[in-house]
Amino acid sequence: MDTLDTAFFVAWFEEAARLVRRDRDRLTELDAAIGDADHGTNLDRGLTEVTKALAEWPPETPVQVLTSAGAALIRRVGGASGPLYGSVFRQAGKALRAPVTLAGFSAAFEEGVVALERLGKAALGDKTMVDALAPASRALALAVRDGVGVREAFEQAARAAAEGAQATIPMQARKGRASYLGERSIGHEDPGAASAALFMEALATVAS
Ligand code: ADP
Ligand code: MG
Repeated sequence: MDTLDTAFFVAWFEEAARLVRRDRDRLTELDAAIGDADHGTNLDRGLTEVTKALAEWPPETPVQVLTSAGAALIRRVGGASGPLYGSVFRQAGKALRAPVTLAGFSAAFEEGVVALERLGKAALGDKTMVDALAPASRALALAVRDGVGVREAFEQAARAAAEGAQATIPMQARKGRASYLGERSIGHEDPGAASAALFMEALATVAS
């Protein structure tokens, strides 16, 4: 698999939708602990809309998949995470060049994460989805530098995201609803970081 085609990107969102549906209650329970108990339902609703849109208007390019998915997430997820996820995928889509190589995807994904950090004004350590996505982006860039294959690169990114999500447990939230809890946000995994890890797991699964 040297280039990532349109079907690969469609399969990515279908798998992400499946994983979020599977883990919907867990994500909502995480949000119940430090937020308002809607993250699983929000994201499940949004990704259902994404898969519907991809089926109704079959995209012709990877760029179209990302921009259509980003727009559907903004439209249907709501809350803080809808516009934030939307900005990741829309900006990544804008930055993507055909044909999509691993290096090209890595660079575009990095731009998506930068757009997220800018919109959310969040940095590493603030206990948000950034804590899963930024390490994933960095792992991808390192994999590209080391000439690692697609499958291995996405596995490394998924591992970095999962570790990043786990690492939010001892953090005190500095952004979003959880930050209202102050020190009481410590000891819980951030729901957005947990869902971001699912997006990266989906990428690894689709590449394998
Ligand atoms: P809401 O907080 O509006 O109910 P969700 O429950 O869908 O929205 O999503 C909450 C997640 O959004 C958090 O767990 C966190 O990862 C992410 N988030 C919230 N605010 C920010 C922010 N300013 N920057 C980055 N991520 C954020
Ligand atoms: Mg919430």
